[in-house]
Amino acid sequence: MALLEIRNLHVNVEGTEILKGVDLTIDTGKVHAIMGPNGGGKSTLAKALVGDEAYEITEGEVLYDGKDLLEMDPEERAREGVFLGFQYPVEIPGVSNTYFLKAAVNAMRKHRGEGEIDAMEFLELVRERAKRVKLDESLLQRPVNEGFSGGEKKRNEIFHMSVLEPKLGILDETDSGLDIDALRIVSEGVNAMRDGERSFMVITHYQRLLEHIVPDVVHVLVNGRIVKTGGKELAQELEDKGYEGFDEAAA
Ligand code: ADP
Ligand code: MG
Ligand code: MG
Repeated sequence: MALLEIRNLHVNVEGTEILKGVDLTIDTGKVHAIMGPNGGGKSTLAKALVGDEAYEITEGEVLYDGKDLLEMDPEERAREGVFLGFQYPVEIPGVSNTYFLKAAVNAMRKHRGEGEIDAMEFLELVRERAKRVKLDESLLQRPVNEGFSGGEKKRNEIFHMSVLEPKLGILDETDSGLDIDALRIVSEGVNAMRDGERSFMVITHYQRLLEHIVPDVVHVLVNGRIVKTGGKELAQELEDKGYEGFDEAAA
């Protein structure tokens, strides 16, 4: 069953058309990788899906779980289980990591008609997930991402995703700047969530991450369009040959 159906999506940024008709379907439980050269529109796709207002949808539609995603405001998309990790994770001064997460968990529960999470249950959940991604417990009480190292921010992003358990996890270049150990931990965090029910859109410029998070489907996004779709072997092909041939195909 399709969790996400993107049809003919056109997106403008500051008056310039960046996405020029993206068609993409992600089935429930599948991991799709989006690869492509810098500037091709990968982050634009991610931002448009979470409802960033700088990204203007001029044409097309997006169905999420059968509902019109584009009609929902960003908070509603999050409550419905759409999660975007950040390429350059934001800092939230004065708001502790756990406070932030508890508010987010409770917003999702409320949306589902459930009561607030029990304090002990939340603490256990947070500890278990922190352990899973080897996030130092001292980072739980610190303001979100404030003073975190690059690697800690990336790990924190996967930690947040592990606690929030989205139906659709979007990771935008989570791998950039990670050493091999951090990459493995981040990948294990994602793989632990692959349960046949959650879907992921993993955006990456490089093939390296996809050796750890093995995708079901790989798409190549060039110049605002998906120019090729294939299996996991497509990632290796791109690594070997680069994106040059695709640039011409997209032009
Ligand atoms: P990718 O993630 O594939 O590298 P992006 O989606 O970040 O590509 O960028 C695609 C194009 O859109 C680039 O030319 C970039 O300069 C432009 N762009 C993206 N976001 C913005 C923005 N907020 N303001 C202005 N231009 C943007
Ligand atoms: Mg791009
Ligand atoms: Mg990008």
